[in-house]
Amino acid sequence: MKIEQVQSTSYKKQRVAIHSHVKGLGLGPDGVATPISAGFVGQEQAREAAGVVVELIRSKKMAGRALLLAGAPATGKTALALGIARELGQKVPFCPLNGSEVYSSEVKKTEILMENFRRAIGIRVKEMKEVYEGEVTEWTPEETEDPLEGYGKKVSHVILSLKTAKGSKQLKLDPSIYENLVKEKVSLGDIIYIDANSGSVKRLGRNESYAKEHDLEADEYVPLPKGDVHKKREVIQDLTLHDLDVANARPQGGKDVHSLLNSLRTPKKSEITDKLRMEVNQIVSGFIERGVAELIPGVLFIDEVHMLDIECFSYLNRALESNIAPIVIFATNRGMTEIRGTDIRGPHGLPVDLLDRCMIIRTQPYTLEEVSQILSIRAKLEGIPVTEESLKALAEISSRTSLRYTVQLLTPAGILSKVAGREQVTEEDVKEADVLFFDAKQSAHMLAEQGDKFIT
Ligand code: ATP
Repeated sequence: MKIEQVQSTSYKKQRVAIHSHVKGLGLGPDGVATPISAGFVGQEQAREAAGVVVELIRSKKMAGRALLLAGAPATGKTALALGIARELGQKVPFCPLNGSEVYSSEVKKTEILMENFRRAIGIRVKEMKEVYEGEVTEWTPEETEDPLEGYGKKVSHVILSLKTAKGSKQLKLDPSIYENLVKEKVSLGDIIYIDANSGSVKRLGRNESYAKEHDLEADEYVPLPKGDVHKKREVIQDLTLHDLDVANARPQGGKDVHSLLNSLRTPKKSEITDKLRMEVNQIVSGFIERGVAELIPGVLFIDEVHMLDIECFSYLNRALESNIAPIVIFATNRGMTEIRGTDIRGPHGLPVDLLDRCMIIRTQPYTLEEVSQILSIRAKLEGIPVTEESLKALAEISSRTSLRYTVQLLTPAGILSKVAGREQVTEEDVKEADVLFFDAKQSAHMLAEQGDKFIT
């Protein structure tokens, strides 16, 4: 199972997708920013400062502290936070959260913060995977009398013989595997694969001799596997504490690595309570002590941090002190503003005690040239061929709208150019796409002028 299959984190992934070109901070060995590197363009001073923070994190000197990115909208604050996470390691979790997301009528603010803290703490689990693979030469269910009178017999285990090019082996397996063999409609001469940890069975195809006898097409049979019937190998899984909370909220059996990981594969939901989180912490500590897991603190990125209120800030103050905290990066575009939940004003809308813990990095607006370079990187990544003129046109649109809007305009412009039978996006396609869609400012303007025509 790959971490990508964990449903709970998929919507966060979509949010990070727009920044997928950012692979790091693009700094040289001397810590100096290369103008265009690792998907990053410009913003050199901020990138170099972020590089220093990465060093502090690596040398464990950021404990109890946070980073605050202050700068105008669309100056790459999210990109910078992601760059820091990528510098720390490709599998380091990056969890984005917008300050306004903590307000929900159903869930407590601190509960949402806690969940996101745990989404930002990675855990690398080593699982010993056992598999059986080979051609079925015998399979017989063994039955015993059901202890409950009147219920007849029940399958107690299944005898399964598998053959590979290296040899054959007779196995005595669980009744659950018997059920899966039936479900997969396995018959003698089939080549199968059994995941012994989850009990799942996969029918790979018919064996070669059967195929020859019955004139089967080449894609209907598979050659005899080469290795042993029974194989063990160590697999590494990257999860987050939140994934384990979700898994533990639908327990399947024991508290060992296999049971917990198997629970991740069952789509059942129940509430995550503090008690469950404590249990997960204990289980994880046990794994770490036994050397089967390792904690990987990731990055929790809280954008529009001025949207949080005093209750959230005091929770964050405490959470930063915890011995398993992620790296917390705040971002804001506000100057002196009211601290929500109080009538006090504070720099960036943050209370002084939290601000005291923060290292602050400023981000600067981009030049038109830099905007076209960013758009060119995105166009390449999305496989949309563009002309120089169209990039310039997009950059100009960005100066009256936003960088995000123009990045998002690339795809429709690409579709329009294809429809018109062009191989590259031209200035004309960009202008047409811009007429078809509204950016946030235009939309607000229209509402101000024609608000009475909308349902309120
Ligand atoms: P902010 O958080 O400051 O509002 P952001 O990083 O969330 O900014 P936008 O500024 O809206 O996002 O950025 C739009 C797109 O441009 C994103 O794909 C982002 O990754 C990319 N981008 C922003 N700054 C840079 C940069 N310096 N180099 C490369 N790509 C960038």
